[in-house]
Amino acid sequence: MALHTPADLRTEVLDLLSLTTEAHLRLAGLACARCGSTAPLRPGGHAYTRSPGGGRLGWAVKVCEGCPLTHPTEGELGS
Ligand SMILES: [Zn+2]
Repeated sequence: MALHTPADLRTEVLDLLSLTTEAHLRLAGLACARCGSTAPLRPGGHAYTRSPGGGRLGWAVKVCEGCPLTHPTEGELGS
């Protein structure tokens, strides 16, 4: 599997081994989870990675001021 950087870390359950170094910085809260910017960051919810045991591991990620705090969910699309 090739390394990749998701457009928005919060939109999928990630596989740590498939992530780029930049994506790891986003997971660690050192860069915007959505665009990768290191501009002033604010809490941006959670991203998830698969754990070896089959569950999910949550990461408190951050987003920059130019990105929405949360990505649209199915419940919000209709409003
Ligand atoms: Zn951003």
